[in-house]
Amino acid sequence: FLSGVEQAPADPILGVSVAFRESTNPNKLNLGVGAYRTEDLKPYVLDVVRQAEKRMIEADYDKEYLPMQGLAEFNEATRKLLLGEGSAAVAESRVATVQSLSGTGSLRVGAAFIGKFMPGAVVYLPNPTWGNHKNIFADAGVEWREYRYYDKATIGLDLDGMIADLKAAPAGSVICLHGCAHNPTGVDPTKEQWAAIADAVESNGLVPFFDVAYQGFASGSLEEDAYAPRLFERRGIEFFCAQSYSKNLGLYAERIGAINAVVNDKETAAKTLSQMNRIARAIYSNPPVHGARIAATVINDPALFARWNEEMGEMAGRIKTVRAMLYDNLCKLNPDKDWSFVTRQIGMFSFTGLNPNQVKHMTEKHAIYMTGDGRISLAGLSQAKCEYLANAIVDSFTV
Ligand code: PMP
Repeated sequence: FLSGVEQAPADPILGVSVAFRESTNPNKLNLGVGAYRTEDLKPYVLDVVRQAEKRMIEADYDKEYLPMQGLAEFNEATRKLLLGEGSAAVAESRVATVQSLSGTGSLRVGAAFIGKFMPGAVVYLPNPTWGNHKNIFADAGVEWREYRYYDKATIGLDLDGMIADLKAAPAGSVICLHGCAHNPTGVDPTKEQWAAIADAVESNGLVPFFDVAYQGFASGSLEEDAYAPRLFERRGIEFFCAQSYSKNLGLYAERIGAINAVVNDKETAAKTLSQMNRIARAIYSNPPVHGARIAATVINDPALFARWNEEMGEMAGRIKTVRAMLYDNLCKLNPDKDWSFVTRQIGMFSFTGLNPNQVKHMTEKHAIYMTGDGRISLAGLSQAKCEYLANAIVDSFTV
């Protein structure tokens, strides 16, 4: 009865790892998927995660179901981490938090909520954006459109285009904003630009939906990377925010994250929470506990929290080091081109400006695996491979 089902296309991001695994080229380099690697290009389990797990084994927890909204200690910790110790919204119980299946599942619950309670609302996504955003909203039956974000000419933010598109969006539209370390471009608004974005959102009655997948991992500072959602909260703008602990705690496969609705009164927060729970109940009933215990243990224990900040600083620092090294190598090989975008971009990725044909050349000739949009993950690059990569990029720009 399923003979009419057609093969689904390969996922544009996850498909890169499949192709990488199949390659027999000894020089192969996987810069496709956004997972942190050590200088030896090995996966990394954070020291604080191992320590938290040790304590969890000693505590001999049971495996009972969590409530629909997840582990209470985690929910409390995660909204404080996002909004800061001094958050008025947290203190006044104006944040509805549901622990969900990492960033993706949290976005999906938020999307379902929009579909159900904001009928007809369109979600505006930055152009370009993380590839899965479109899938997530489309699968939840929410229409999406794009707003201008990236300026090819400056390899920077098209603030004027973005503001014009926000102003043209109907009141009540949802605006997806990457909280920090925009994926795939690595181009973030400055503080002044965030203020201008908040002005446009406020004057037009738009609803921001922050996607915070890299808090602490981008700059190495949890505070700095949460600048935008905290600014919006201080200004009294109501918004959604999806959080992920895949990158900053390296808990990719534990699927730990949260969806928050930050609103202006406690009663609305409570009702919103009850409806988000209902959505979760119908999709997966209640979330997994292991990652929630790890995250709550690390965030709530001062010594582990301090060590976590150090480890994030180390991860962000390694990425900054290879960025600088790649930049130096590119400048040496082709001093006539302006490569400063490499060091200006923030987070895990660099948007190289290579077109799909040039990306194909990167893979076929140099065995460098990356997404077709020209994005490379610097988290998958070692110092030893910087020169090889720079050579391949310079060569591919001639194709
Ligand atoms: N949003 C953005 C912008 C991302 O880059 C990612 C991870 N690549 C996610 C959300 C979600 O990842 P996860 O589901 O592992 O938390």
